[in-house]
Amino acid sequence: MDFTQEIAKRRTFGIISHPDAGKTTLTEKLLLFGGAIQEAGAVKNNKIKKGATSDFMEIERQRGISVATSVLAFNYQEKKINILDTPGHKDFAEDTFRTLTAVDSVIVVIDVAKGVEEQTEKLVEVCRMRNIPMIVFINKLDREGKDAFDLLDEVEQKLGLKVTPLSFPIGMGYDFKGIYNIWEKNINLFSGDSKKNIEETIAFDDINNPELDTIIGDSAASELRDNLELVYEVYPEFNRDSYLDGTLQPVFFGSALNNFGVRELLDCFIDIAPAPRAKNAEERLVEPEENKFSGFVFKIHANMDPKHRDRLAFIKIVSGTFERNKPYLHVRNNKKLKFSSPNAFFAEKKEIVDISYAGDIVGLHDTGNFKIGDTLTEGENLHFKGIPSFSPEHFRYINNADPMKAKQLMKGVDQLMDEGVAQLFTLDLNGRKIIGTVGALQYEVIQYRLEHEYGAKCSYENFPVHKACWVEPEDEKSEEFTEFKRVKQKFLARDKHGQLVFLADSAFSIQMAQQKYPSVKLHFTSEFN
Ligand code: GDP
Repeated sequence: MDFTQEIAKRRTFGIISHPDAGKTTLTEKLLLFGGAIQEAGAVKNNKIKKGATSDFMEIERQRGISVATSVLAFNYQEKKINILDTPGHKDFAEDTFRTLTAVDSVIVVIDVAKGVEEQTEKLVEVCRMRNIPMIVFINKLDREGKDAFDLLDEVEQKLGLKVTPLSFPIGMGYDFKGIYNIWEKNINLFSGDSKKNIEETIAFDDINNPELDTIIGDSAASELRDNLELVYEVYPEFNRDSYLDGTLQPVFFGSALNNFGVRELLDCFIDIAPAPRAKNAEERLVEPEENKFSGFVFKIHANMDPKHRDRLAFIKIVSGTFERNKPYLHVRNNKKLKFSSPNAFFAEKKEIVDISYAGDIVGLHDTGNFKIGDTLTEGENLHFKGIPSFSPEHFRYINNADPMKAKQLMKGVDQLMDEGVAQLFTLDLNGRKIIGTVGALQYEVIQYRLEHEYGAKCSYENFPVHKACWVEPEDEKSEEFTEFKRVKQKFLARDKHGQLVFLADSAFSIQMAQQKYPSVKLHFTSEFN
């Protein structure tokens, strides 16, 4: 088969949600449809249990599982589907943000009773910034929850989306009777039997057909008719182009646990979700069908077992095909590298493959060559954009606790930062190092890994920072910028790439700086040009 046809078959996406909304359960049901797994319970839940935050074994277990579930691939209706795992735990949010640079679309899972939760808001915001096409799945309809219209309102307001329901629930919780599939114009009745894999649906082109009353009862039928009338009145008709450019989000209802409404979601996804999309490099836009390979590293997974110190770098293939044993250019190092055992992923297994296509993810064994964001090509000098750093939430000085091991500490810190475990800032004033993380858990991970993998010891010291702001002066030589640098001297640092960062101690000081130095722009992410 022509390689462009292979590429056109790829659907690479991520499922995002607040923990417990049902991401793992939905993933598992999708894999069941693909025939990729045989039974429920095969997909391990990739989350840290509450209260286990100081348990290193738990962290290690979690990391072990997350390799297995990093990419779950399966075939369905002639399409090759790649689901990229996105950790829901907020301490790993940065990991999820980066993974979102490698997806072509997402499914957002929302708990019908809890509605829009904090983590969902943050993740959807990142997707919105990038115009990633999103489908919303409202889950747990077998439980009592919020009114469907109220929820749709909440989704629009809190997430800043424009939605249109493509299915609609008939009752809810105890009275949940099923869903009307607006997309396919049929009804799927709920029996609460999670084992049935292929659901039976009843076609209803005309919702006014009196047979509806016989099937779901008079009152449910008239309620459904009223609700659908309102849906057609209030919400725009689905339009694929709007979905693809991120301005319209279709919504489905169902119950992942009961495997109900999942087929509708998947079938619609197959119809509408985008094939691999073009990606911007600093030099030019790269199209997936170009015959030369290009790709970028969006995730590095280290083995925490000191006996197996290898790392796995995850590459999203942006264009062409990636072949085993073919030399590729590591652009940052200007070095040709060959890979004898690239891993591809299928269901929950990984295996060595000879060829992978744009849209796919390959896992490459790495001994320390790669950093997050690195580009690989067939020779062209390309740099893919868009793996931004976000301002961390926590900041601490890192001190060397064993003077004999200073080198080991620096090497360890360097490598961990390359993996994207946390961010390092170096103060302009005195060269002291500060580690910024999304969650407090990371400090324990870093300390543990420095000791066990690099033989180095560290201690931390609080450094009260509210947010890191990347600094962009309108004019490097202006008096205003010089003044800004003089006044804020104590709070200025460099990130890993040497970019200037203002470590503001409060929201107020950011506000003041913005007022006093209007030509010095402050950004909450490292990506602003
Ligand atoms: P994740 O943290 O988003 O991956 O959530 P999980 O898939 O682990 O689900 C969290 C909990 O919700 C588990 O106990 C699931 O069994 C349960 N759950 C998931 N989907 C449904 C559903 O449709 N109905 C009900 N009642 N429970 C569900």
